[in-house]
Amino acid sequence: MFDPIEKLKEFIRHPSISTDSAAKEGMRGAQTFVTDLLGSLGFEVEAVHTELHPIIFAQRKGDPSWPHVVIYGHYDVQPADPLNLWKTPAFEPTIIGNRIYGRGAADNKGPLMTNIAAVAKLLEEQPNVPLRITFLIEGEEEMGSPSFPKFLERYADKLREADFVFLSDTALPNEQQVVITAGLRGLALFDVHVTGAKGDLHSGLHGGVLRNPIQALAEILASLHTPDGRVNVPGFYDDVLDVHPWEREELKKLGGDEKGLQRISRYRCVLHAARFFAVRGRAFPAHARNQRHRRRLPGRGHQDGDPEQGVR
Ligand SMILES: [Zn+2]
Repeated sequence: MFDPIEKLKEFIRHPSISTDSAAKEGMRGAQTFVTDLLGSLGFEVEAVHTELHPIIFAQRKGDPSWPHVVIYGHYDVQPADPLNLWKTPAFEPTIIGNRIYGRGAADNKGPLMTNIAAVAKLLEEQPNVPLRITFLIEGEEEMGSPSFPKFLERYADKLREADFVFLSDTALPNEQQVVITAGLRGLALFDVHVTGAKGDLHSGLHGGVLRNPIQALAEILASLHTPDGRVNVPGFYDDVLDVHPWEREELKKLGGDEKGLQRISRYRCVLHAARFFAVRGRAFPAHARNQRHRRRLPGRGHQDGDPEQGVR
């Protein structure tokens, strides 16, 4: 049996950023790593071609009467930038205390390695265990799984045989508490461009007369939520299920106060409710920055105080 920690470190060293076309080598490395590892455990491994990144489909076949479990995971990771915020190199796994730091360590390379290691241990101890196991590991999860629907259609017959699908692309609220995730948020991405004049114009002559596309965009974005944080799009909540009282009770146990619903957004183990707006890939940005300058009106100058005051 391999050393799961060492194997995980090896896995993390492949910079498998699916959204970055410059990271092809890292993607190939991570894919080969998983393929070889599952192959070494006796799985029949297929790297299913897609338009972007292959999906690893690895089977431990057996008697059709045996139960069949499908284990899902992904080998791609989020981009690591901004790199200057990392305390240790993003793709050099570093153990501090009882944690491994590195891009993808938690999502999803660590949990996936846990699953593979558990299966390896099981097969080592019970080589003839009457269980069919299929690993389904994609390389486009962090970009919204564009190839996945087609794949599911193609492999529907094989997947339909499954008695159980297990996935670990979730999170735990703390190290002591095991949770069963009942639902995850979906994803909607919008790329909004606002165009004004044909080209940039002199702000002294045209500023204030024409609508600045940046301002229009800011107004559009601001209108998407109410001040209390609810989505302000008509019909948005129509088919969203309410959180049941028993679910609220369970949520309270996570932290013990009514802010449970807010708190779980940190853990991503949301019940039915939410969808969200994200900007810049799938990450929710921690910062927003806007640079602007202001034109002074005739007759008003520095005597009014700091001309930039209130503009930052
Ligand atoms: Zn994930």
